[in-house]
Formats: sequence, C-alpha cells, structure tokens
Amino acid sequence: MGSDRLGESLDRLLGPRTAGPLAKLGLHTSSDLLRHYPRRYSEPGRLTDLSSIAVGEHVTVMAEVRQATVRDMRSRGGAMLQATVTDGRRELSLTFFAKRRGSLGGHEAKLRPGRVGLFTGTVGAYRGELQLTHPDYQIVGVDAEDEEAALVEVSRPIPIYPASAAVPTWRIQRAVRTVLDPLTPGDLPDPIPASVRERRGLIGLHQALKDVHEPFTAADWRGARRRLRYEEAFVLQAALARRRAEVAGQDAVARTGAAPGAPSLLAAFDARLPFTLTGGQREVGGQIAEDLARPRPMQRLLQGEVGSGKTVVALRAMLQVVDSGGQTALLAPTEVLASQHLRTLRSLLGPLAEQGMLGGAENATRIALLTGSQSTAARREALLDAASGRAGIVVGTHALLGEKVQFADLGLVVVDEQHRFGVEQRDELRTRGATVVHLLVMTATPIPRTVAMTVFGDLEVSTLAEVPAGRPGVTTHVVPSGNVAWTARTWQRVREEIDAGHRVYVVCPRISPDDPACVGDATDDADLVTDLVGPGDGADDGWEPMVAPAAQEPERRSLRAVLEVAQELAAHPALSGIRIGVLHGRLPAGEKDVVMARFAAGEDQLLVSTTVIEVGVDVPEATVMVVLDADRFGLSQLHQLRGRVGRGTAPGLCLLVSEAPEGSDAATRVQTLAETTDGFRLATVDLELRREGDVLGASQSGGASSLRLLRVVRDADVIAEAREDAAEIVAQDPDLAASPALRSAIETWLDPTREEFLDRA
Ligand code: ADP
Ligand code: MG
Repeated sequence: MGSDRLGESLDRLLGPRTAGPLAKLGLHTSSDLLRHYPRRYSEPGRLTDLSSIAVGEHVTVMAEVRQATVRDMRSRGGAMLQATVTDGRRELSLTFFAKRRGSLGGHEAKLRPGRVGLFTGTVGAYRGELQLTHPDYQIVGVDAEDEEAALVEVSRPIPIYPASAAVPTWRIQRAVRTVLDPLTPGDLPDPIPASVRERRGLIGLHQALKDVHEPFTAADWRGARRRLRYEEAFVLQAALARRRAEVAGQDAVARTGAAPGAPSLLAAFDARLPFTLTGGQREVGGQIAEDLARPRPMQRLLQGEVGSGKTVVALRAMLQVVDSGGQTALLAPTEVLASQHLRTLRSLLGPLAEQGMLGGAENATRIALLTGSQSTAARREALLDAASGRAGIVVGTHALLGEKVQFADLGLVVVDEQHRFGVEQRDELRTRGATVVHLLVMTATPIPRTVAMTVFGDLEVSTLAEVPAGRPGVTTHVVPSGNVAWTARTWQRVREEIDAGHRVYVVCPRISPDDPACVGDATDDADLVTDLVGPGDGADDGWEPMVAPAAQEPERRSLRAVLEVAQELAAHPALSGIRIGVLHGRLPAGEKDVVMARFAAGEDQLLVSTTVIEVGVDVPEATVMVVLDADRFGLSQLHQLRGRVGRGTAPGLCLLVSEAPEGSDAATRVQTLAETTDGFRLATVDLELRREGDVLGASQSGGASSLRLLRVVRDADVIAEAREDAAEIVAQDPDLAASPALRSAIETWLDPTREEFLDRA
C-alpha cells in the first residue's frame, strides 16, 4: 500500500505492550493490522452452544451472566468470585481468585446478571462442571460512553479475530480501532480503480476496512468481505497480467522448424511413431508449433489427464526447435523421472538421437542427461554436449538450472510434471542466457480452471482431455485394511497378475518403520515431499461454529513402511518365488535407476516403493497398483499413482488399502477415487477437501498471507471477473501509471519474501 501511514510500526502507534503480542501474530505495521480481518462475527443475541465445548480446549464463547458471588475462602485465605454464565440451557462457571476481596470488585461490577459477554480461556472441569479459571472477558457495550451508545453497541456484530492466548480478540479489536479510526480515505489509496469498483458494485477501501472491522450490521461486513476478497483476486490477476504483458513484449528467437526441403527430425519422428496422434495431441501440438514460430517467448501450460500422452507432445515441440538449429532442455522433478525421460526419449527417437554413433541417422541429434548426483566424468561430458550445441536435447532435474550449465543456443525449456514451480522460477528459466527462451510447463494431473488462472495465471493454457483410444482402463477397489479375507485376496490377485506376466507396484507412505513423520520421500529431490493431507480445517464464511471442533485423529497403528512391507511380502506364502525390488528416495541416485530399470525390464516383478513413482513413471507391463494406507494420500496423488497402471494392453487394477473410518474426509477421498477416473473432477474434489494452503503454498493463519479471504475453488467467479478486469486495465495502461495504488499493491504482492504464495506446496 502506498501511504506512509500504513507502514507505521505498531510498536510506535500502540506501544510495546500491545505491539509485542501482535508481533507474535505476524502483525508489525498498520497495514498488517488492518489486513488482519476478523475470522467471523458474533451477534450479541446469538449465544454459543455450550454443549459444544470440551475440557482442555481454548475457547471463546458468547454467553449471558446468570449470577456472580464473591466470598472469602476460610481454609486457604483470600477470596474468590464465582460466576455462572449460560447459553440459556447449559452453564459454565467462571472462577477468579484474589488475595483480598476488594480486588474482585472490578469483576463483580462488570459481571452483572443479564449482561452478555465474550469469555475466553481454557476449559477445565471442577466437580463435574465445566469452568474457566481467570478467563479474559469482554462485556458487550460496557465501554460505551452513554446508554444510547451502549444500546447501539450491543446490537452490533462483534468481530472475532484470529487471536492467541496472549492477545484476546477484543484487544485486537481495540488496537484496530486505534489505528483505523484516525485514517481518512486519503490515507488508504484504493488498488481497485473506481471504474472497476463501479462495474462490480464494490465499496471503496476505506469503507471496506471500516465495515469489516467495525460493522453495524451483518450486511456491512458481508459487503466489505466481498470487496476485500475481490481485491485479492484483482491484485493477483493484475500482477499476472503484467507478467504476461512483460514477457509478451520480450524478444525470443522464432523456431520455425526445418527449412523447406531440409531434413527434418520432426518429420522423421512422426514417420516412425508406432501410433497415430490423438486429436487433442494434434491440436495442442499445433498451438505450440505456432507459439514457437513467433519471435515472442512462448509461455504455455500443457495440462492433461494422466496418460494423455504429454511427453510426445513435448518431444515434438523440442524437435521443432532442434530442427531450427536450437537446443532444448527438459526438466523433471526427480532423478528417477529424469532418467526415465532419457530412456523414453531415446527409445522414441531411436537412431534419430544417435548422432555420431554407428547406425545413427544422418541428421540425428544427441540427448544428454544432467543430474545432481552423476559422476564427475559423466557430468563433464554432458556439460560439454550442452555447451557445444552437440546435444539438441538436455534432460535433467532442476539441478540443470544450476550455476554452470551453458548452452550453445537454448531455445525451449520444458518443465515436466511440475506443480511445484513458482512464477519467479519460471521467470528465471525464461531469461536464462542471452535471449529469452520459449517455455512449456506440463502439469502432472489436470487442474481446475481457477487454479490454472491463479497458480499458472502467467501462462496460456492448453489441455489434453482425452487419453489415447483403446486404453484398457483401470478398475479401482477400496480394501478395508482390517478385513483379513480381502487382504489375503489382494496378494492372491497380485500373484495371479505376476503369473500372467504382468508387474505390480506396492506403494507405502513411509520408507522405514522408525521414520518419525508420516511424510514419504522428502529425500529424493527436496521438492518431492508427498502431500499427505491432514484433517481439513473447514472453510469460513463468517459463521463457522464458535468453538472449533477438536480435530482429533482416531488412534491408529503406525503407517506402513517400504522396508518392512518388502520383507513381509518376501516371506508371504502367496508371493513365494516372486522377485521384489525396493525403491525409495533414500537410495543413492544411481541405484534408483538400476531398480527402476530392473522393474521396467521385468527382472523384478513387484516393486515396493514410496511415492517416488508417483509422477510420470511409465512401465506398460505394470497392471496392479496396491496403495497401502491409501487414506493418507491426497486425491491427486492417488490419481497419479493409479495412472501408473493400465498403460499397456492389459487392464489395470488399483487396490486402495484403507482404514479410514466411514464418513471421514479420508474415506471420502479414497471412495471418490474408486468411483471416478476423471482427473478434472478429482482435482476439483481434491481442492475442496484440502486446505487452501495446500493449493497455494500460502502459510495459513494470520501473518503475511496475501490471500486472506479468497478461496480458489469457492471463488471461481470472483477470480474470473477479476482476471477480466485486470487484463483490461493492464492492456489500457501497461505501466499502471494511472493506478499507483494498484502498482504498489502488486509490488507488495510480488515481494520476493512473499513469492511462496504463487508456488504450490
Ligand atoms: P502423460 O500425459 O501422463 O505424461 P505419457 O506421455 O507418459 O502420459 O504417455 C502415456 C503412454 O501413452 C506412453 O506409453 C506413450 O507412449 C503412449 N501414447 C502417447 N500418445 C499416444 C497415442 N496417440 N496413441 C497411443 N499411445 C500413446
Ligand atoms: Mg508424463
């Protein structure tokens, strides 16, 4: 925000006693505090249902005082005040102790029967009754100057802030008032231009902050939230629109493909493809080919159903660039995947990738592999291939982006299976070297439109919705882990498939039984942390229950681990004689490759693995995917895992072993996966079940998150409108000269320290 007053430190404005605890909530400046919106609002007339609270919880409840009495404590000395508050049905007792009776007079004066207040504290039990000891509280209307003001006050919605034990919500409320009340509209330049506000019927920023923090009616805060939510979408979309415009204004080398009459790798490749391209592959291929042929950097997202054949589309784009004399880089999130890409591309290209080798085609190119952990000699040779221009295609992990990698003429970067990449990293990629390169980003799974607009909003989107015809498909079943008969049947089925010449994956959430946390493979490349999901924390809309339900996980045995399961299966009578491989992120990189290659070649028939195989691994002979503790995985992740089977000619089978109790979110997830194979639908359900932070990578509560009110799934319409408005504003005024407030809001938004909000976790 532009005005200096908003940058003022709370320490100066409020004094260290108030500012200290606020700082612990991540609130340091006026602006931070004003953007710390109430989580919800409480109506004075609406009391908290006291049956919903439990011993041990920290609660804030709205209740009416029934009685309060002060008495001396003969046995212990000193005095106590005992009050009872009620929701009309149940009671909660409040207890205050003091050395002298007189010290309790203040409480006694405030806690008069019939008054309504907010009470906060940790619930204890005394002689079977729930009680709060020394609760912090605020009586509604008690601070008002006269009776009339008090009457108004008691009828206003009460903002309830995300608070902490150190700062109760009303202290935040008071601090906000201290900061907000002296400000005028002039102090609060509005990032949303008046024309847009008018079109969308939105109030101005000053009014919105007043109404969100100090509403008189529910309509006030609703209108304010609507506007503030829109603002978040608008600033983000304007930032993305500017990036698109900026990149679109840059020069890139047009890569039009082979000159007429000259030998073309692309044509030669198409001629040797063992299948015909799907309609979608042709259409998307056409879009990409056109992009590449323009002297402007391509910035395109290719998203598609698992198994829709994105690799071929990317390879054809790469060949167009190589045919034009340029080089390409293909980045994969893990070493396993990078090595697999190398194998895939080599086998797809055959002699076309064997430049300089016996049997290589005349106009052949070369593929180099660069990973973080290869031998120095191999690395040196790959670096040389890249720098000399000999390699038309360089495959690698993100280490490829690292320091010393030089290209003779890099024209295109393809980022595969990558939803963990931020805008900033994309910028970095695009601007490597002397010229700006073309960029193609591929997602592992389909993503809902609003996520595309938000997380990948700087990119044009191409979608491959269909999978090649004739795929046998995958049948999915949920196997309750407690059911002995089903479990036995599972391993029998596995045996049958292997006896039929097929291969089987068994996926576990952990590597070894003594891994403390339930994360999968944090060790391959740091970015391959599995997104095991925790209990969702319900979306807000002003009226979530007063007391958050204790999100307690039922007691459960520990999660299955690769090393343990591999041993069990090796000893399992149904699987005797079967060759079992073990794959996880802690293996040295070279060994991972060996394991994967053994499995691909059929030397191992069953692979026990972590989610290191989640993305992109392509072994057509694999027909069964058994996921243990399936309820611990995210929906998109399960969909990815399932996508590893049914890729060849034989039908696939996916068995989700789960012990999620019926009706739980986890059970819903697993069941949903069993019911549909539509990745777009699954992605939407997934988003609805997950917390927002998992989508945007934003840190959750309070503090610096720039998306406070906006929810990517729920607010799809808002995002679409904001995108339209932002594109228009940026098109008219690319430098935003006429909208300084918007420009500075974008700068704040794009502050590198906040960049994580554009990265998906
Ligand atoms: P994903 O989009 O999930 O990355 P891949 O690119 O790995 O999918 O392709 C999945 C499999 O489908 C590969 O074995 C690939 O060779 C094959 N494939 C790709 N395009 C076609 C097509 N048009 N017809 C038949 N098979 C295809
Ligand atoms: Mg793929």
